[in-house]
Amino acid sequence: MTTLPSATPVRVPPQPSRTAVVRRARRINRELAELYPDAHCELDFTSPLELLVATILSAQCTDKRVNQVTPVLFARYRTAADYASADRDEVEKIVMPTGFFRAKTTSIIGLGQALCERFGGEVPGKLKDLVTLPGVGRKTANVVLGNAFGVPGITVDTHFGRLARRFGWTTSGDAVKVEQEVGSLFPRSEWTMLSHRLIWHGRRICHSRRPACGACPLAALCPAYGEGPTDPVVAARLVKSGPFS
Ligand code: SF4
Repeated sequence: MTTLPSATPVRVPPQPSRTAVVRRARRINRELAELYPDAHCELDFTSPLELLVATILSAQCTDKRVNQVTPVLFARYRTAADYASADRDEVEKIVMPTGFFRAKTTSIIGLGQALCERFGGEVPGKLKDLVTLPGVGRKTANVVLGNAFGVPGITVDTHFGRLARRFGWTTSGDAVKVEQEVGSLFPRSEWTMLSHRLIWHGRRICHSRRPACGACPLAALCPAYGEGPTDPVVAARLVKSGPFS
């Protein structure tokens, strides 16, 4: 009878405590605040309605491209009623450079109609109302709340989700879960600026493919350091300088 070798115990690396995760998350936020003191929403707007429309147009499009289109659009359509009664062909022509222009036109005209029918032509300042509008999901609603109404909101776009996972703040790919899990690590008052900072860092240094780890000021704090090139010269070439608007 053969004796089976006793199983080698598997060593599970110790998980950092909740306190340690919170401390490190807040330290990363402080470093980002120093790195990007001017972080802000890179879409141009002067009212909640303009921001709402610009955010709808920014789906699958750069903020820079949206900002090239919106001056003409905003000069032509000033109120929700203007959008509600807009000529479809005319709107399509203006927003065409932002891509998906038919769907975006449908959303913008529908948005104008919904605002007039249900909210007296004004943009509502509550998440539960904003998400009932055509073309407006949680991400868009949080952008508008945080930047046009001063209500703290976490904007989980592709950059925010990726960086939150790299920092170990969440493992989820679900935007609502990411919003909740990251939100629990920070005071509400930090949510809007935290969103801008992560998005800025994602656009400039912590790219989706090949993050510039060797040129990243957060290298010492980041659990994902090494996901991109660590050689300083190679990494420096990957850094993109803004502005992106
Ligand atoms: S060290 Fe690398 S993965 Fe971590 S934040 Fe910096 S660029 Fe991103």
